[in-house]
Amino acid sequence: MNAHQAAALKNTEVVGTLRSGDSFLSDLRASERTVYVDGERVTNVVDHPAFRGAAKTFGRLFDYAAAPENRERMTFTSPDTGGPVWRCFQIPKSHEDLRAKRIAAEGWAEQTFGLMGRTPDHVANFFAGFAAVPSFFEAGGKGYADNVVNFYKHIRDNHKYVAYAIVPPQIDRSRPAHQQSDPTLYAGVVRETDSGIVIKGGQQLATGAVFADYLHLSCIHPLRAGDEAYAISVAIPMDAPGLKLYSRRAFALTAENVEDYPLTTRFDETDSFVVLDDVHVPWERVFIYRNIDLCFQQWWKTPSHSYGNHQAQARYATKLRFLLGLAKRLNEATGNDKAPPVQVEMGELAAYASLVEQMLYSHEVSGTIDANGIAWPSKISLYAVMALQSEINPHMIDIVRELTGAAMISLPSSSKDFNNPQQLADIERYYVSSDLSARERVKLMRLAWDFIGTEFGNRHQQYEKFYGGASYLVKTNMYRNYDFERAGRLVDAALDTSLA
Ligand SMILES: Cc1cc2nc3c(=O)[nH]c(=O)nc-3n(C[C@H](O)[C@H](O)[C@H](O)COP(=O)(O)OP(=O)(O)OC[C@H]3O[C@@H](n4cnc5c(N)ncnc54)[C@H](O)[C@@H]3O)c2cc1C
Repeated sequence: MNAHQAAALKNTEVVGTLRSGDSFLSDLRASERTVYVDGERVTNVVDHPAFRGAAKTFGRLFDYAAAPENRERMTFTSPDTGGPVWRCFQIPKSHEDLRAKRIAAEGWAEQTFGLMGRTPDHVANFFAGFAAVPSFFEAGGKGYADNVVNFYKHIRDNHKYVAYAIVPPQIDRSRPAHQQSDPTLYAGVVRETDSGIVIKGGQQLATGAVFADYLHLSCIHPLRAGDEAYAISVAIPMDAPGLKLYSRRAFALTAENVEDYPLTTRFDETDSFVVLDDVHVPWERVFIYRNIDLCFQQWWKTPSHSYGNHQAQARYATKLRFLLGLAKRLNEATGNDKAPPVQVEMGELAAYASLVEQMLYSHEVSGTIDANGIAWPSKISLYAVMALQSEINPHMIDIVRELTGAAMISLPSSSKDFNNPQQLADIERYYVSSDLSARERVKLMRLAWDFIGTEFGNRHQQYEKFYGGASYLVKTNMYRNYDFERAGRLVDAALDTSLA
């Protein structure tokens, strides 16, 4: 075999291989990232009790995508390597492509019951959207389009997980970034070098960053004249010197076992405040530099925000299906399932879940193909449902609370109670349902409480309100996209009495 054949064989081996869960976890174990939790610097997140459950779940997602039986659903062929790569990176050219991307997103969402918001397909979709419109980045100067496309190809062809922090910290929202008490409080450029830029400051709130390969740092909040240093878009490896992740309270630390906390123990993806202490970013990883207009418009004039949130809605629709299934099982367990008023409440829940699901399909079928042949999900149907999510989600949770009464509270104190012979007879006698043993009923109720009532469950309610931005901003997106002209013409026609 000559050198050329050997190289070709090596290439075939590489391109034929998707990144496995083991490979992801061993890369993560070897990574020298800086993560803090509970006053401790964690050197190995894979084996640390705060993060190990979620790390394992992320590994399972990698394996799910790599499994031969899921290959068609979860991957497409890289146009550059010819190997299979995750479908979330696909730049859709048709309604059928949009549908295929949604079905892939549902594949991962079903593995977590929609309880991990920032699985690797979220930001991957944003980068597919950036790479779909390279001319947008070229407008910022020569080379930026190549940078974003090259980075997109790198993460696509190497199955990389990117998390993002694109919101400035809530230090003082009444003042622009450059007028904070210290202009380096918000993450921004402090220096330029021949080889790149240096960034200092904080940024919120990078969900999943503890586990990711890269951080995308940018800003989605409107910036004002004078804020140029903060108007950037860059990618940074998680182990870059000076990059620090401050994890919020890790719920998994107090969740002792999977019986009592079936969701917290597996799906606590964590959210991290990001601090950049003079982090050097080479020019090749700079996509937008000191350009307020491009920084703001990158989300709207490329399909990035639409692709990322199409995935987010596929995840949300899956979670609502889970919520409906849970409510149904709870009603069956309490014996209330057949009561007509309960069925009315369930009908209301089903109506909300179906609205979200049908709007998801509407993003696809009402999507448009632009002059360059790129498919965009419908912004109207996307933002309509996102704008209402912060209202319907708490309402739905409240209905489930209403339906369950004391069922999620009237439980043994923990799974240890089953081990005490003095308690066991009473537990097995009283904590039952007509069709469920005490163990089965308690298991179901613990699942419901972890979904709704634990710290993990409550963080989820905050997540659904804010993951796509504060609702006043999402409603502003809706305002910008709705066809008020057409609506106004109807009123004008009604005012025109000449035809009377
Ligand atoms: C669990 C969770 C996970 C998250 N994950 C990520 C992530 O992965 N990456 C990321 O970048 N960000 C993430 N975020 C951050 C999220 O993007 C922000 O929380 C969101 O954009 C809202 O910004 P804020 O928290 O600064 O709220 P603010 O902008 O300060 O708004 C808070 C509230 O103040 C009021 N308000 C403020 N200004 C106005 C106004 N002009 N008009 C009307 N009302 C106003 C509204 O009631 C608003 O809801 C996450 C947030 C949460 C809660």
